[in-house]
Amino acid sequence: MKSERVIIVGAGPVGLVAAAALAAEAISVVIIEAERDLPDGMRASTFHPPTLDMLERFGVVESLIADGLICPTWQFRDRAQGPIATFDHAMIAGDTRHPYRLQCEQWRLTRLLREQLAANPDVEFIYDARAIAVAQHAAGVTLTLERPDGHQEALGGRYLIGADGARSAVRKSLGIGFDGQTIPEIYLTLSTPFAYHDAMEGLTNIAYISDPDEWFVLLRNRNLWRLLLPTDAAEPEAVMLSDARIEARMQQVLPQAGRYEITHRTAYRVHERVAERYVDGRVFLAGDAAHVNNPLGGMGMNGGIHDALNLAEKLAAVWRGAPLESMGRYERQRQRVALEVVQQQALRNRSILNQKDPETRRAFLDDLRATVADPVRHRAHLLRTSMVQSLRDLENVE
Ligand SMILES: Cc1cc2nc3c(=O)[nH]c(=O)nc-3n(C[C@H](O)[C@H](O)[C@H](O)COP(=O)(O)OP(=O)(O)OC[C@H]3O[C@@H](n4cnc5c(N)ncnc54)[C@H](O)[C@@H]3O)c2cc1C
Repeated sequence: MKSERVIIVGAGPVGLVAAAALAAEAISVVIIEAERDLPDGMRASTFHPPTLDMLERFGVVESLIADGLICPTWQFRDRAQGPIATFDHAMIAGDTRHPYRLQCEQWRLTRLLREQLAANPDVEFIYDARAIAVAQHAAGVTLTLERPDGHQEALGGRYLIGADGARSAVRKSLGIGFDGQTIPEIYLTLSTPFAYHDAMEGLTNIAYISDPDEWFVLLRNRNLWRLLLPTDAAEPEAVMLSDARIEARMQQVLPQAGRYEITHRTAYRVHERVAERYVDGRVFLAGDAAHVNNPLGGMGMNGGIHDALNLAEKLAAVWRGAPLESMGRYERQRQRVALEVVQQQALRNRSILNQKDPETRRAFLDDLRATVADPVRHRAHLLRTSMVQSLRDLENVE
């Protein structure tokens, strides 16, 4: 059994970035993907500045930019009052080579990475194979995977990365807890070619619109706008996703004479959870397998990519002889970011957007106005929201 390699479970953005980073260190990898092909659903669409800086080494950023939309500014609005604060990444131009958010679908990144990896003889892809159990021994790991016809196979490797998403079979197989909470509302995401930028005054390409009764988010991609609308979980999905209900909600967001054209719709439950361990012997969790949070602020995929690169760098050192125990620093660094930065920021974003108490709302909005007006606070806010700060703070975590 070939075992001088790292097994990566999951060909999402996190698994493929980890694969690219290990392959660049001349370490053989095998990538196991449950689907027949790379998933191409509409999921994350925001790339933050440091993520683009990191992805440059794989030669994919130019293509992402060509397919995406550069967004130097983003905005916090109040549904009744209009723009409250517009943040400008020019304030962090000295901190990154990409002072903007790039709006581009995550499936474009995975396709670009696959193109590059497919040409590397040290990289193998196995599709249509679901990981179901992981076992470890003194010198390596054994992964059991199952084919759609029920046939099972064992695969050997020196180490294994579980990048198999929120329902991670790797995490479950090792009995690693995934504590946290489930957000009460369902998130409905809709895509439309409607030109919100012509219809809403002063609208930036990324806008968070707060309202005590119904907040929402507007995100522009190259050809479409995406709306994220919180939805009562008691509403049956067939109603929530029906043409009539969606049209009524779109008209509520912005009344217009014609009907809205909807090109894509999904409704999903959102959780805020962090794995109790990221490292278990020779097995490491990364991305959604290790942490999930609400999408407000676009930190799920970005944080996962930051995990993948941190993990790959340390694993490459272990591959060359560093002690396995040194992987503990990966857990200490990245679990801390998930718990103390991403979860806190995502929960804060949600509480600002849906705040009902008028006094608390006023204080939040005043604070945002004051932040944007003060260059020092403006820059500090952008360093935090674009995830630069969380990467800098890691340097102090041993
Ligand atoms: C519907 C939806 C919408 C989202 N929208 C946003 C958004 O707007 N903004 C945002 O920031 N984030 C969003 N997210 C979250 C974001 O997509 C994730 O943070 C990101 O995809 C994490 O990447 P990953 O590689 O860790 O996991 P994933 O992208 O989930 O990739 C995991 C991969 O593993 C495969 N896999 C799963 N189980 C197995 C198994 N047992 N064996 C083998 N392979 C397996 C899957 O098929 C998949 O290819 C959304 C998520 C969902 C579900």
